[in-house]
Amino acid sequence: NATTLSEKETALKPGRMKFLQLIFVDINGVPKGMEIPVERYEEAIDDGIAFDGSSIPGFEGIEDSDLIFKADPSTYSEVPWEGVSRVYGYIYKGKRPYPADPRGVLRDALKELEKEGFRAYIGPEPEFYLFRKNGSWELGLPDGGGYFDLVNLDRARNVRRDIALYMPSLGLIPEVLHHEVGKAQHEIDFRYDEALRTADNIVSFKYIVKAVAETHELHATFMPKPIHDLPGNGMHLHMSLWKDGDNAFMGDGGLSDTALHFIGGILAHARALTALTNPTVNSYKRLVPGYEAPVYISWGYRNRSALIRVPAFWGKGARVEYRCPDPSANPYLAFAAVLMAGLDGIRRKIEPTAYVEENVYEMDDSRRESMGVETLPGSLGEALEELKEDRVVRKAIGKAYRNFIGYKEREWEAYLGYLKAEGLPEDTRKVTGWELERYFHV
Ligand code: GLN
Ligand code: MG
Ligand code: MG
Ligand code: MG
Repeated sequence: NATTLSEKETALKPGRMKFLQLIFVDINGVPKGMEIPVERYEEAIDDGIAFDGSSIPGFEGIEDSDLIFKADPSTYSEVPWEGVSRVYGYIYKGKRPYPADPRGVLRDALKELEKEGFRAYIGPEPEFYLFRKNGSWELGLPDGGGYFDLVNLDRARNVRRDIALYMPSLGLIPEVLHHEVGKAQHEIDFRYDEALRTADNIVSFKYIVKAVAETHELHATFMPKPIHDLPGNGMHLHMSLWKDGDNAFMGDGGLSDTALHFIGGILAHARALTALTNPTVNSYKRLVPGYEAPVYISWGYRNRSALIRVPAFWGKGARVEYRCPDPSANPYLAFAAVLMAGLDGIRRKIEPTAYVEENVYEMDDSRRESMGVETLPGSLGEALEELKEDRVVRKAIGKAYRNFIGYKEREWEAYLGYLKAEGLPEDTRKVTGWELERYFHV
């Protein structure tokens, strides 16, 4: 295959890097992998490299854990500051794709979309906090800035710029850098791309942010809610589906029916989707009123209190912004779930309900009810129950479902055990030490 060959050649030509990182993600979306001497790259593409998957989180439950990593040469890049090359890939067990490989799950979901002629494009808005490294969770904030603050208060601006400067070598195109609402909270948006590429890009992005923060003696965290009374870290997703080279969300002076049904599908499955888009105990500490994070299931055009917002770009830029996801999500599983929910809406022509242009937080319960506005799950435990009941979302993550639900139920149980031991109520909104310990480095 000519494409693969020339990609291989380009990849092998530079010859500056002696080692190649083979990257996949575990059930949590955390990158894992091994390094091989770069001479083995062809072998990694053609035959794959064998490894023992027995201790990878979420890969358990397999009698025989001999797995194979096969490099996807279209993802090859070089990390100049580390002196290594890196490549993403798929996991196989023997000749067959390994069912709990998140990247494989997304590939399969995208094939479903292709059956209807669609290609999915996604652009994320990841947010993160920068904390001083002082060896404790006592968080000395590196600056006192707020939303869009520029030079004077924003001491982290050089960190943001460094991150943006490193991004292109891993194939990410930075678009906007800014201070977020929280003290020491930041956002860097990069160019949207085809869904699989964007999921890879999110994994690369988190790595770059953490690596650059380290060089500034800072810790970056993507934890959804690191501090109780400051805004959480979201990762809004801007999505569009394309067909025959055209944006299928583009209608006559507004959104197309395809887009409206896509919204309808996401709203209909929103409660189960949170298990994938907000998969940590800590995720639900973010989804509370007062911090621009969604709580209610509604959609609207300008309205930033809505779960789904439709930015005022028609034509080629027509898209839907899903405001629920946070950066602790495994991007492959989250994308597969959200896209399959949207596709279900398209297939079943689900009309979106709960259209709201006022602030949903300011309505009283009866008004919300009369408008059909439901509430998102309030905890990981509740979200997992929803997932169990939703066949479309379960199917979206294919055979990874079993491993996912098992892993996450244990996580929820462990948290409940901690709360009990500490004498804390099950519905506490406080960010606990257990969460900081477990999620600070997600
Ligand atoms: N930090 C907010 C959230 O949790 C989003 C703020 C914004 O980008 N407007 O989603
Ligand atoms: Mg933004
Ligand atoms: Mg933001
Ligand atoms: Mg946004």
